[in-house]
Amino acid sequence: MSKTLTIIGIGPGEQGFVTPEVSAAIARATDAVGYIPYIERLPGHPDLVCHPSDNRVELDRARHALDLAAAGGDVIVVSSGDPSVFAMSAAVFEAMETPSDAWGDVEITVLPGITAMLAASAAIGAPLGHDFCCINLSDNLKPWDIIERRLRLAARGDFAMAFYNPRSTLRPLGFEKTLQVLKEECGDNRLVLFARNVSLPDQTIRVVPLQETTPDMADMRTVVIVGSSKTKTVQHGEKEFVYTPRFYELDV
Ligand code: SAH
Repeated sequence: MSKTLTIIGIGPGEQGFVTPEVSAAIARATDAVGYIPYIERLPGHPDLVCHPSDNRVELDRARHALDLAAAGGDVIVVSSGDPSVFAMSAAVFEAMETPSDAWGDVEITVLPGITAMLAASAAIGAPLGHDFCCINLSDNLKPWDIIERRLRLAARGDFAMAFYNPRSTLRPLGFEKTLQVLKEECGDNRLVLFARNVSLPDQTIRVVPLQETTPDMADMRTVVIVGSSKTKTVQHGEKEFVYTPRFYELDV
């Protein structure tokens, strides 16, 4: 009887970005629990039973995974990217706040993965090379007011910013408001990166000055990186990289 629950992140898409530890966890698993498109990305094997579920049922999914592990399974809970970045690991610990007697001896492990913003940052250079923050723009689990407050304070602190879940069909207005707030708070010449399907064959990365950005530039397959006031481009042959210097001098 295994009774293990391993919470894994399978990276942004490219197979080479799956860590060896995560590959080993998949290879020995008896059960895989997760959102349908992430389960579909797993390399299957004959001993693996998949339990795909729909979006937005994270707590049910976490309890189901704990039950399967308690029954003796070697269970993986699958997220894209890193499992702690707006993904399943916090949901598993939330589920454990209301424990079942059966879960007591389940061994729980979290294995990190390459999160979308770091894959995007690497693909274009080093836009997150200095201090940055990371904000989930979905207001499904938090009020819009806290998102707007954090955006304004991050802009005033001159952080680079990475945005997840920027714009969905059910939330068409949030990203429009986000761009409006940034245009109010940030000076001119601010670079914004729209990195879509990072590490996949159809990856696209657009670099756009903030004042020229429009909401339709992002969707749910996009991670958005907003540079700080110091973020800039550097040319290397045909290629243009974007980076944020390690040092910071106050403007006088
Ligand atoms: N745990 C994941 C994030 C889940 S939230 C991670 O660490 O990457 C889902 C959001 O992640 C998407 O809306 C998008 O903003 C971002 N994302 C995930 N994979 C991506 C990819 N390959 N390219 C661009 N953005 C991606």
